[in-house]
Amino acid sequence: MRHEADISTQDPSGIKDRFPCPECRRETTHSILAIVNARHSEEDGLVEFLENYLTVRCEGCGTISFSHVSACTEEQDFMEDGTPYLPKRKKHYPGIDENISVLTEEFVSRARIQEIESLSKGEFDTAKLAQLLVELNRAYEDDSYYSCLFLIRAVVDHIPPVFGKRSFSEITDNYAGGGRSFRDSMKHLGGSCRKFADGALHSQIREKEAVPTREQVEFRADIDALIGEVVRVLKIER
Ligand SMILES: [Zn+2]
Repeated sequence: MRHEADISTQDPSGIKDRFPCPECRRETTHSILAIVNARHSEEDGLVEFLENYLTVRCEGCGTISFSHVSACTEEQDFMEDGTPYLPKRKKHYPGIDENISVLTEEFVSRARIQEIESLSKGEFDTAKLAQLLVELNRAYEDDSYYSCLFLIRAVVDHIPPVFGKRSFSEITDNYAGGGRSFRDSMKHLGGSCRKFADGALHSQIREKEAVPTREQVEFRADIDALIGEVVRVLKIER
């Protein structure tokens, strides 16, 4: 059997898609840097094999990885409305190591939210905080990134009294309880995140708008540090 491959390159400019990032260890938006397409058929010409070789770059961390997508016309199937489609096989290199814990798609872990809910009867009622976190998870799962920003902003404004402070900037400036990495996380939340959220919330319509991406609302580690410290402080109080 002889294969004759028809190889072509395709202009990748502006094309984006979601791929597993080996560095972020989850699916992220990638810009596509190069596309090589190969098409070959068996000698009788009845069965065609289609291959795409993609070089992609993670929009979040910049890591470059490779994707191989293949399909075969012999496997053509039909959607419910009768439109024909080709099932595609995807392989990504390097893959995400299954042994390394893969970040879940949740913004706030369910365990954290349960901890917050369980602390509901004391000096502070945590019902609103728990609901904000539940809604943040829903928005993140739903790719609703404006909603994510608004909810992160609401959480940040909501919790200062837990730390005996009147505003979040008092936490970043004067709260000594959480240690160094906690302070760094709070600076991140109080600085870039707050500015970004405020811009998203209050800006008036312009000639050109840039809507937020998944990577731009990626404040999960900081929110986790914040909620972890809220739980720690409220547990001591009881
Ligand atoms: Zn990445």
